Amino acid sequence: MSRLVIISNRVAVAKGRGAAGAQGGLAGALNSALKKFGGVWFGWSGQEADETTGHIQLHTNDGVTTATIDLSHHDVEEYYNGYANSTLWPLFHYRIDLTEYENETGRGYERVNEAFAQSVSPLIDPDDLVWVHDYHLLPLGERLRSKGLKNRIGFFLHTPWPPARLFVSLPYHERLVRTMLEYDLIGFQTDEWLGSFLHYCEKELGAEVDEATGRISFEGRTTYARAYPIGVDWDHIQAQAKLPEARQAAQRMLSSTRHRTAMIGVDRLDYSKGLPERIDGISRFFDQNPDRVRDLVFIQIAPPSREDVDSYQKIRAELEQKTGQINGARSEVDIVPIRYVNKGHSLAELCGFYSTAKIGLVTPLRDGMNLVAKEYVAVQDPEDPGVLILSQFAGAAHQLKDAVLVNPHSPDNLARAIRLALDMPLEERKRRYQSMVKSVREEDIHGWTDNFVGDLRSVGAD
Ligand code: UDP
Repeated sequence: MSRLVIISNRVAVAKGRGAAGAQGGLAGALNSALKKFGGVWFGWSGQEADETTGHIQLHTNDGVTTATIDLSHHDVEEYYNGYANSTLWPLFHYRIDLTEYENETGRGYERVNEAFAQSVSPLIDPDDLVWVHDYHLLPLGERLRSKGLKNRIGFFLHTPWPPARLFVSLPYHERLVRTMLEYDLIGFQTDEWLGSFLHYCEKELGAEVDEATGRISFEGRTTYARAYPIGVDWDHIQAQAKLPEARQAAQRMLSSTRHRTAMIGVDRLDYSKGLPERIDGISRFFDQNPDRVRDLVFIQIAPPSREDVDSYQKIRAELEQKTGQINGARSEVDIVPIRYVNKGHSLAELCGFYSTAKIGLVTPLRDGMNLVAKEYVAVQDPEDPGVLILSQFAGAAHQLKDAVLVNPHSPDNLARAIRLALDMPLEERKRRYQSMVKSVREEDIHGWTDNFVGDLRSVGAD
Protein backbone atom coordinates (compact mmCIF):
# COMPACT_ATOMS: atom_id res chain seq x y z
CA MET A 1 0.00 0.00 0.00
CA SER A 2 1.40 3.42 -0.91
CA ARG A 3 2.38 5.81 1.86
CA LEU A 4 0.57 9.06 2.30
CA VAL A 5 2.26 12.45 2.31
CA ILE A 6 -0.01 15.08 3.80
CA ILE A 7 0.79 18.73 3.26
CA SER A 8 -1.11 21.50 5.04
CA ASN A 9 -0.34 24.96 6.35
CA ARG A 10 0.22 23.72 9.91
CA VAL A 11 0.83 20.25 11.23
CA ALA A 12 -0.79 19.31 14.49
CA VAL A 13 -1.22 16.26 16.60
CA ALA A 14 -4.78 15.64 17.71
CA LYS A 15 -4.06 15.81 21.43
CA GLY A 16 -3.78 19.01 23.42
CA ARG A 17 -5.79 21.23 21.16
CA GLY A 18 -7.20 23.14 24.08
CA ALA A 19 -5.96 26.56 23.13
CA ALA A 20 -6.96 26.17 19.64
CA GLY A 21 -10.10 25.26 18.22
CA ALA A 22 -7.76 27.55 16.24
CA GLN A 23 -6.64 24.49 14.30
CA GLY A 24 -10.19 23.78 13.31
CA GLY A 25 -11.42 20.33 12.51
CA LEU A 26 -8.37 19.37 10.49
CA ALA A 27 -5.98 17.89 13.05
CA GLY A 28 -7.93 14.86 14.20
CA ALA A 29 -8.90 13.98 10.67
CA LEU A 30 -5.39 13.91 9.33
CA ASN A 31 -3.90 12.07 12.28
CA SER A 32 -6.35 9.25 11.69
CA ALA A 33 -5.38 9.08 8.03
CA LEU A 34 -1.65 9.03 8.73
CA LYS A 35 -1.91 6.30 11.34
CA LYS A 36 -3.76 4.19 8.86
CA PHE A 37 -1.54 4.60 5.80
CA GLY A 38 1.86 5.59 7.27
CA GLY A 39 3.89 8.42 5.79
CA VAL A 40 4.64 11.96 6.77
CA TRP A 41 2.83 15.23 7.44
CA PHE A 42 4.56 18.37 6.21
CA GLY A 43 3.81 22.02 7.00
CA TRP A 44 4.81 25.25 8.66
CA SER A 45 6.07 24.89 12.25
CA GLY A 46 4.17 28.00 13.36
CA GLN A 47 7.56 29.54 14.22
CA GLU A 48 9.09 32.61 12.65
CA ALA A 49 12.78 32.73 11.66
CA ASP A 50 15.02 35.49 10.26
CA GLU A 51 14.69 33.89 6.85
CA THR A 52 12.68 31.11 5.21
CA THR A 53 15.51 28.63 4.68
CA GLY A 54 13.45 25.50 4.04
CA HIS A 55 15.42 23.61 6.69
CA ILE A 56 13.26 20.65 7.81
CA GLN A 57 12.67 19.57 11.42
CA LEU A 58 11.50 15.96 11.71
CA HIS A 59 9.55 14.56 14.68
CA THR A 60 7.84 11.27 15.34
CA ASN A 61 5.10 11.21 17.93
CA ASP A 62 2.51 8.53 18.60
CA GLY A 63 3.23 6.84 15.26
CA VAL A 64 2.94 10.00 13.18
CA THR A 65 6.00 11.62 11.56
CA THR A 66 5.86 15.34 11.00
CA ALA A 67 8.25 17.50 8.99
CA THR A 68 8.11 21.25 9.50
CA ILE A 69 9.84 24.40 8.30
CA ASP A 70 9.98 27.86 9.85
CA LEU A 71 8.90 30.91 7.85
CA SER A 72 10.26 34.44 7.95
CA HIS A 73 8.14 37.16 9.55
CA HIS A 74 7.71 38.76 6.15
CA ASP A 75 6.47 35.51 4.62
CA VAL A 76 4.03 34.93 7.49
CA GLU A 77 2.65 38.44 7.01
CA GLU A 78 2.17 38.10 3.27
CA TYR A 79 1.27 34.45 2.88
CA TYR A 80 -0.64 33.65 6.08
CA ASN A 81 -2.07 36.88 7.51
CA GLY A 82 -2.16 38.45 4.06
CA TYR A 83 -3.24 36.44 1.06
CA ALA A 84 -4.59 33.33 2.82
CA ASN A 85 -6.50 35.00 5.64
CA SER A 86 -7.24 38.50 4.35
CA THR A 87 -7.96 37.62 0.72
CA LEU A 88 -8.90 33.99 0.15
CA TRP A 89 -10.67 33.26 3.46
CA PRO A 90 -13.13 36.18 3.26
CA LEU A 91 -13.64 35.71 -0.49
CA PHE A 92 -14.32 31.98 -0.06
CA HIS A 93 -16.85 32.84 2.68
CA TYR A 94 -18.65 35.20 0.29
CA ARG A 95 -17.36 38.33 2.08
CA ILE A 96 -15.99 40.47 -0.73
CA ASP A 97 -16.62 43.46 1.55
CA LEU A 98 -13.79 42.16 3.79
CA THR A 99 -11.54 40.85 1.02
CA GLU A 100 -8.21 42.63 0.55
CA TYR A 101 -7.03 42.59 -3.01
CA GLU A 102 -3.26 43.11 -2.64
CA ASN A 103 -0.87 41.88 -5.30
CA GLU A 104 2.02 42.16 -2.85
CA THR A 105 0.60 39.53 -0.53
CA GLY A 106 -0.24 37.37 -3.55
CA ARG A 107 3.46 37.28 -4.38
CA GLY A 108 4.25 36.19 -0.81
CA TYR A 109 1.64 33.44 -1.16
CA GLU A 110 3.30 32.14 -4.32
CA ARG A 111 6.74 32.41 -2.70
CA VAL A 112 5.73 30.28 0.28
CA ASN A 113 4.02 27.71 -1.92
CA GLU A 114 7.28 27.44 -3.86
CA ALA A 115 9.26 27.13 -0.59
CA PHE A 116 6.91 24.32 0.55
CA ALA A 117 7.35 22.50 -2.77
CA GLN A 118 11.14 22.77 -2.65
CA SER A 119 11.37 21.50 0.91
CA VAL A 120 8.87 18.67 0.73
CA SER A 121 9.65 17.18 -2.68
CA PRO A 122 12.82 15.32 -1.51
CA LEU A 123 10.66 13.59 1.15
CA ILE A 124 8.26 12.18 -1.45
CA ASP A 125 8.90 8.69 -2.87
CA PRO A 126 7.65 7.85 -6.38
CA ASP A 127 4.83 5.59 -5.08
CA ASP A 128 3.54 7.97 -2.42
CA LEU A 129 0.10 9.48 -2.62
CA VAL A 130 0.27 13.20 -1.91
CA TRP A 131 -2.67 14.93 -0.24
CA VAL A 132 -2.60 18.73 -0.02
CA HIS A 133 -5.02 20.60 2.24
CA ASP A 134 -6.83 23.86 2.15
CA TYR A 135 -6.85 27.36 0.79
CA HIS A 136 -3.31 28.21 1.90
CA LEU A 137 -1.90 25.83 -0.68
CA LEU A 138 -4.08 26.02 -3.79
CA PRO A 139 -1.11 26.28 -6.22
CA LEU A 140 1.11 23.72 -4.47
CA GLY A 141 0.26 20.86 -6.86
CA GLU A 142 1.54 22.86 -9.81
CA ARG A 143 4.70 23.79 -7.89
CA LEU A 144 5.29 20.10 -7.09
CA ARG A 145 4.82 19.17 -10.74
CA SER A 146 7.45 21.79 -11.63
CA LYS A 147 9.90 19.77 -9.49
CA GLY A 148 9.21 16.72 -11.66
CA LEU A 149 6.73 14.91 -9.39
CA LYS A 150 4.60 12.39 -11.28
CA ASN A 151 2.79 11.12 -8.17
CA ARG A 152 -0.93 11.09 -7.68
CA ILE A 153 -1.60 14.45 -6.01
CA GLY A 154 -4.95 15.29 -4.42
CA PHE A 155 -6.27 18.45 -2.87
CA PHE A 156 -9.07 18.98 -0.37
CA LEU A 157 -10.65 22.36 0.29
CA HIS A 158 -12.07 22.68 3.81
CA THR A 159 -13.79 26.00 3.12
CA PRO A 160 -16.62 26.79 0.74
CA TRP A 161 -15.86 27.60 -2.90
CA PRO A 162 -17.68 30.81 -3.87
CA PRO A 163 -19.96 31.28 -6.88
CA ALA A 164 -18.11 32.26 -10.06
CA ARG A 165 -19.61 35.76 -9.92
CA LEU A 166 -17.74 36.39 -6.67
CA PHE A 167 -14.62 34.43 -7.49
CA VAL A 168 -13.89 36.48 -10.61
CA SER A 169 -13.40 39.54 -8.38
CA LEU A 170 -10.01 38.01 -7.49
CA PRO A 171 -7.23 39.37 -9.70
CA TYR A 172 -5.44 36.48 -11.43
CA HIS A 173 -8.32 34.14 -10.62
CA GLU A 174 -7.71 32.24 -13.81
CA ARG A 175 -4.04 31.71 -13.06
CA LEU A 176 -4.93 30.30 -9.66
CA VAL A 177 -7.48 27.81 -10.97
CA ARG A 178 -5.16 26.72 -13.78
CA THR A 179 -2.60 25.72 -11.13
CA MET A 180 -5.30 23.69 -9.36
CA LEU A 181 -5.93 21.67 -12.49
CA GLU A 182 -2.50 20.08 -11.97
CA TYR A 183 -4.07 18.01 -9.17
CA ASP A 184 -5.47 14.60 -10.04
CA LEU A 185 -8.37 14.94 -7.61
CA ILE A 186 -9.93 17.97 -5.93
CA GLY A 187 -12.32 17.41 -3.02
CA PHE A 188 -14.98 19.78 -1.71
CA GLN A 189 -17.16 19.54 1.39
CA THR A 190 -20.51 19.70 -0.42
CA ASP A 191 -22.13 19.46 -3.84
CA GLU A 192 -22.80 23.17 -3.63
CA TRP A 193 -19.14 24.23 -3.48
CA LEU A 194 -18.28 21.55 -6.05
CA GLY A 195 -20.96 22.91 -8.36
CA SER A 196 -19.56 26.44 -8.11
CA PHE A 197 -16.08 25.20 -8.98
CA LEU A 198 -17.24 23.13 -11.96
CA HIS A 199 -19.33 26.02 -13.17
CA TYR A 200 -16.30 28.32 -13.02
CA CYS A 201 -14.13 25.81 -14.93
CA GLU A 202 -16.71 25.43 -17.63
CA LYS A 203 -17.90 29.00 -18.04
CA GLU A 204 -14.78 31.03 -17.27
CA LEU A 205 -11.93 28.74 -18.31
CA GLY A 206 -13.73 26.97 -21.12
CA ALA A 207 -12.83 23.52 -19.74
CA GLU A 208 -14.85 20.46 -20.71
CA VAL A 209 -16.75 19.30 -17.63
CA ASP A 210 -18.58 16.04 -17.08
CA GLU A 211 -20.79 16.66 -14.06
CA ALA A 212 -21.69 13.01 -13.52
CA THR A 213 -18.09 11.92 -12.86
CA GLY A 214 -16.57 15.30 -11.96
CA ARG A 215 -14.09 14.98 -14.82
CA ILE A 216 -12.56 18.27 -15.97
CA SER A 217 -10.58 18.20 -19.21
CA PHE A 218 -8.47 21.23 -19.91
CA GLU A 219 -5.50 21.75 -22.23
CA GLY A 220 -4.68 18.06 -22.42
CA ARG A 221 -4.89 17.36 -18.68
CA THR A 222 -7.62 15.61 -16.70
CA THR A 223 -8.61 16.46 -13.14
CA TYR A 224 -11.49 15.05 -11.14
CA ALA A 225 -13.48 17.18 -8.70
CA ARG A 226 -15.92 15.58 -6.24
CA ALA A 227 -17.66 16.18 -2.93
CA TYR A 228 -16.40 14.42 0.23
CA PRO A 229 -18.24 15.78 3.29
CA ILE A 230 -15.88 15.58 6.26
CA GLY A 231 -17.11 13.88 9.42
CA VAL A 232 -16.11 13.50 13.05
CA ASP A 233 -14.27 10.62 14.68
CA TRP A 234 -17.26 8.92 16.29
CA ASP A 235 -15.34 6.47 18.53
CA HIS A 236 -12.90 9.14 19.67
CA ILE A 237 -15.74 11.47 20.65
CA GLN A 238 -17.55 8.73 22.56
CA ALA A 239 -14.31 7.96 24.43
CA GLN A 240 -13.69 11.65 25.19
CA ALA A 241 -17.25 12.05 26.44
CA LYS A 242 -16.61 9.33 29.04
CA LEU A 243 -13.46 10.91 30.52
CA PRO A 244 -13.58 12.42 34.02
CA GLU A 245 -12.71 15.76 32.39
CA ALA A 246 -15.97 15.59 30.40
CA ARG A 247 -18.01 14.61 33.44
CA GLN A 248 -16.52 17.44 35.47
CA ALA A 249 -17.27 19.92 32.71
CA ALA A 250 -20.87 18.68 32.55
CA GLN A 251 -21.15 18.99 36.30
CA ARG A 252 -19.84 22.55 36.25
CA MET A 253 -22.39 23.50 33.63
CA LEU A 254 -25.26 21.87 35.48
CA SER A 255 -24.45 23.36 38.84
CA SER A 256 -23.91 26.83 37.41
CA THR A 257 -27.03 26.90 35.24
CA ARG A 258 -29.21 25.24 37.90
CA HIS A 259 -32.83 25.04 36.70
CA ARG A 260 -32.32 27.04 33.56
CA THR A 261 -32.06 25.64 30.05
CA ALA A 262 -28.54 25.93 28.70
CA MET A 263 -28.00 26.82 25.06
CA ILE A 264 -24.43 26.53 23.73
CA GLY A 265 -22.36 27.93 20.88
CA VAL A 266 -18.74 26.87 20.20
CA ASP A 267 -16.87 28.70 17.46
CA ARG A 268 -13.50 30.18 16.67
CA LEU A 269 -13.92 33.92 16.92
CA ASP A 270 -14.38 34.43 13.19
CA TYR A 271 -16.74 36.71 11.26
CA SER A 272 -17.89 33.74 9.18
CA LYS A 273 -19.46 32.17 12.29
CA GLY A 274 -22.27 34.71 12.59
CA LEU A 275 -21.65 35.52 16.26
CA PRO A 276 -23.02 39.11 16.43
CA GLU A 277 -26.01 37.97 14.35
CA ARG A 278 -26.54 35.14 16.83
CA ILE A 279 -26.57 37.57 19.74
CA ASP A 280 -29.10 39.71 17.83
CA GLY A 281 -31.31 36.64 17.43
CA ILE A 282 -31.14 35.86 21.13
CA SER A 283 -31.86 39.46 21.97
CA ARG A 284 -34.92 39.32 19.70
CA PHE A 285 -36.03 36.14 21.44
CA PHE A 286 -35.86 37.91 24.82
CA ASP A 287 -37.74 40.92 23.39
CA GLN A 288 -40.50 38.67 22.14
CA ASN A 289 -40.56 36.33 25.15
CA PRO A 290 -39.75 38.44 28.22
CA ASP A 291 -41.20 35.71 30.46
CA ARG A 292 -38.45 33.32 29.28
CA VAL A 293 -35.44 35.40 30.37
CA ARG A 294 -35.26 33.43 33.59
CA ASP A 295 -35.49 30.09 31.73
CA LEU A 296 -32.57 30.38 29.38
CA VAL A 297 -28.83 30.90 29.60
CA PHE A 298 -26.65 31.10 26.52
CA ILE A 299 -23.01 30.05 26.77
CA GLN A 300 -20.79 31.09 23.90
CA ILE A 301 -17.32 29.59 23.80
CA ALA A 302 -15.24 31.58 21.34
CA PRO A 303 -11.48 31.05 21.39
CA PRO A 304 -9.59 33.89 19.70
CA SER A 305 -8.29 33.24 16.23
CA ARG A 306 -5.97 35.01 13.73
CA GLU A 307 -5.54 37.96 16.05
CA ASP A 308 -2.98 39.63 13.79
CA VAL A 309 -5.64 40.20 11.14
CA ASP A 310 -7.62 43.47 11.44
CA SER A 311 -11.05 42.06 10.66
CA TYR A 312 -10.64 39.59 13.54
CA GLN A 313 -9.89 42.35 16.01
CA LYS A 314 -13.02 44.13 14.82
CA ILE A 315 -15.30 41.13 15.17
CA ARG A 316 -14.02 40.55 18.69
CA ALA A 317 -14.74 44.13 19.70
CA GLU A 318 -18.20 43.95 18.13
CA LEU A 319 -19.08 40.74 19.92
CA GLU A 320 -17.88 42.05 23.27
CA GLN A 321 -19.93 45.19 22.83
CA LYS A 322 -23.12 43.35 21.88
CA THR A 323 -22.78 40.83 24.69
CA GLY A 324 -22.19 43.65 27.16
CA GLN A 325 -25.25 45.51 25.89
CA ILE A 326 -27.68 42.63 26.17
CA ASN A 327 -26.33 41.51 29.53
CA GLY A 328 -26.54 45.09 30.77
CA ALA A 329 -30.14 45.36 29.68
CA ARG A 330 -31.32 41.91 30.77
CA SER A 331 -29.32 40.87 33.82
CA GLU A 332 -30.76 40.58 37.33
CA VAL A 333 -28.71 40.12 40.47
CA ASP A 334 -29.02 36.36 40.02
CA ILE A 335 -29.19 36.16 36.21
CA VAL A 336 -26.72 36.85 33.42
CA PRO A 337 -28.35 35.73 30.16
CA ILE A 338 -25.18 35.44 28.06
CA ARG A 339 -21.86 34.00 29.17
CA TYR A 340 -19.13 34.69 26.72
CA VAL A 341 -15.96 32.66 27.22
CA ASN A 342 -13.05 33.91 25.19
CA LYS A 343 -10.82 30.85 25.50
CA GLY A 344 -10.45 27.37 24.10
CA HIS A 345 -11.44 24.08 25.75
CA SER A 346 -10.41 20.48 25.16
CA LEU A 347 -12.71 18.20 23.18
CA ALA A 348 -13.50 16.26 26.37
CA GLU A 349 -14.67 19.44 28.10
CA LEU A 350 -16.67 20.44 25.05
CA CYS A 351 -18.36 17.02 25.08
CA GLY A 352 -19.37 17.65 28.69
CA PHE A 353 -20.77 21.06 27.79
CA TYR A 354 -22.57 19.81 24.67
CA SER A 355 -24.21 16.98 26.58
CA THR A 356 -25.76 19.29 29.17
CA ALA A 357 -26.92 21.95 26.69
CA LYS A 358 -30.53 21.44 25.62
CA ILE A 359 -29.93 23.57 22.53
CA GLY A 360 -26.87 23.70 20.27
CA LEU A 361 -26.73 26.95 18.35
CA VAL A 362 -24.58 26.68 15.21
CA THR A 363 -25.37 29.61 12.97
CA PRO A 364 -22.46 30.52 10.67
CA LEU A 365 -23.16 32.92 7.81
CA ARG A 366 -21.13 30.56 5.66
CA ASP A 367 -19.10 27.50 6.64
CA GLY A 368 -17.36 24.77 4.63
CA MET A 369 -18.78 22.05 6.88
CA ASN A 370 -18.89 22.84 10.65
CA LEU A 371 -17.80 19.99 12.87
CA VAL A 372 -19.21 21.50 16.04
CA ALA A 373 -22.72 20.73 14.75
CA LYS A 374 -21.80 17.06 14.34
CA GLU A 375 -20.01 16.87 17.68
CA TYR A 376 -23.07 18.30 19.43
CA VAL A 377 -25.29 15.61 17.91
CA ALA A 378 -22.74 12.86 18.66
CA VAL A 379 -22.93 13.29 22.44
CA GLN A 380 -26.66 13.78 22.99
CA ASP A 381 -28.52 11.41 25.26
CA PRO A 382 -30.69 9.26 22.92
CA GLU A 383 -33.46 9.18 25.56
CA ASP A 384 -33.53 12.95 26.05
CA PRO A 385 -31.65 14.59 23.19
CA GLY A 386 -31.08 18.32 22.79
CA VAL A 387 -32.08 20.28 19.69
CA LEU A 388 -29.58 21.46 17.09
CA ILE A 389 -30.32 24.85 15.53
CA LEU A 390 -28.22 24.97 12.38
CA SER A 391 -27.57 27.58 9.72
CA GLN A 392 -28.82 26.62 6.29
CA PHE A 393 -25.52 28.08 5.00
CA ALA A 394 -23.25 25.58 6.79
CA GLY A 395 -22.02 22.64 4.75
CA ALA A 396 -23.32 20.41 7.56
CA ALA A 397 -26.90 21.42 6.69
CA HIS A 398 -26.64 19.25 3.56
CA GLN A 399 -26.44 16.19 5.81
CA LEU A 400 -28.17 17.25 9.04
CA LYS A 401 -31.50 17.99 7.43
CA ASP A 402 -33.39 17.26 10.65
CA ALA A 403 -31.75 20.07 12.55
CA VAL A 404 -33.90 23.17 12.99
CA LEU A 405 -32.54 24.97 9.94
CA VAL A 406 -32.34 28.75 10.11
CA ASN A 407 -31.32 31.80 8.14
CA PRO A 408 -28.66 33.23 10.46
CA HIS A 409 -29.07 36.74 9.05
CA SER A 410 -32.62 37.01 10.35
CA PRO A 411 -33.07 37.77 14.07
CA ASP A 412 -36.76 36.86 13.81
CA ASN A 413 -35.96 33.53 12.26
CA LEU A 414 -33.42 32.78 15.00
CA ALA A 415 -35.81 33.85 17.74
CA ARG A 416 -38.53 31.58 16.32
CA ALA A 417 -36.11 28.66 16.13
CA ILE A 418 -35.11 29.11 19.78
CA ARG A 419 -38.76 29.16 20.82
CA LEU A 420 -39.46 26.05 18.75
CA ALA A 421 -36.47 24.25 20.28
CA LEU A 422 -37.46 25.15 23.84
CA ASP A 423 -41.00 23.92 23.30
CA MET A 424 -40.21 20.87 21.21
CA PRO A 425 -41.87 17.67 22.50
CA LEU A 426 -39.62 14.76 23.45
CA GLU A 427 -40.90 12.54 20.61
CA GLU A 428 -39.96 15.10 17.98
CA ARG A 429 -36.56 15.70 19.55
CA LYS A 430 -35.92 11.96 19.44
CA ARG A 431 -37.05 11.63 15.85
CA ARG A 432 -34.80 14.45 14.68
CA TYR A 433 -31.87 13.21 16.74
CA GLN A 434 -32.16 9.67 15.39
CA SER A 435 -32.01 10.81 11.81
CA MET A 436 -29.06 13.15 12.46
CA VAL A 437 -27.04 10.74 14.56
CA LYS A 438 -27.31 8.11 11.87
CA SER A 439 -25.56 10.41 9.42
CA VAL A 440 -22.97 11.60 11.96
CA ARG A 441 -22.12 8.02 12.88
CA GLU A 442 -22.19 6.46 9.42
CA GLU A 443 -20.48 9.27 7.52
CA ASP A 444 -17.63 9.69 9.94
CA ILE A 445 -14.00 10.63 9.47
CA HIS A 446 -12.79 7.16 8.59
CA GLY A 447 -15.18 6.95 5.66
CA TRP A 448 -14.03 10.40 4.57
CA THR A 449 -10.32 9.51 4.44
CA ASP A 450 -11.01 6.11 2.88
CA ASN A 451 -13.17 7.63 0.17
CA PHE A 452 -10.77 10.41 -0.70
CA VAL A 453 -7.62 8.30 -0.61
CA GLY A 454 -9.35 5.44 -2.44
CA ASP A 455 -10.45 7.79 -5.22
CA LEU A 456 -7.04 9.44 -5.38
CA ARG A 457 -5.53 6.03 -5.96
CA SER A 458 -8.03 4.92 -8.60
CA VAL A 459 -9.51 7.97 -10.26
CA GLY A 460 -9.14 8.13 -14.02
CA ALA A 461 -8.08 4.48 -14.25
CA ASP A 462 -11.56 3.47 -15.43
N1 UDP B 1 -12.66 23.28 19.23
C1 UDP B 1 -11.85 22.92 20.31
N2 UDP B 1 -11.82 23.76 21.39
C2 UDP B 1 -12.53 24.91 21.45
C3 UDP B 1 -13.35 25.27 20.33
C4 UDP B 1 -13.39 24.41 19.24
O1 UDP B 1 -11.20 21.89 20.29
O2 UDP B 1 -12.47 25.62 22.44
C5 UDP B 1 -12.73 22.36 18.06
C6 UDP B 1 -14.13 21.78 17.90
O3 UDP B 1 -14.29 20.68 18.76
C7 UDP B 1 -14.15 21.42 16.42
C8 UDP B 1 -13.18 22.42 15.81
O4 UDP B 1 -12.48 23.04 16.87
O5 UDP B 1 -13.67 20.11 16.22
C9 UDP B 1 -13.88 23.48 14.99
O6 UDP B 1 -14.21 22.94 13.75
P1 UDP B 1 -15.35 23.56 12.84
O7 UDP B 1 -15.44 22.72 11.61
O8 UDP B 1 -16.63 23.66 13.62
O9 UDP B 1 -14.87 25.04 12.52
P2 UDP B 1 -13.47 25.68 12.05
O10 UDP B 1 -12.81 26.21 13.29
O11 UDP B 1 -12.68 24.57 11.39
O12 UDP B 1 -13.85 26.80 11.13
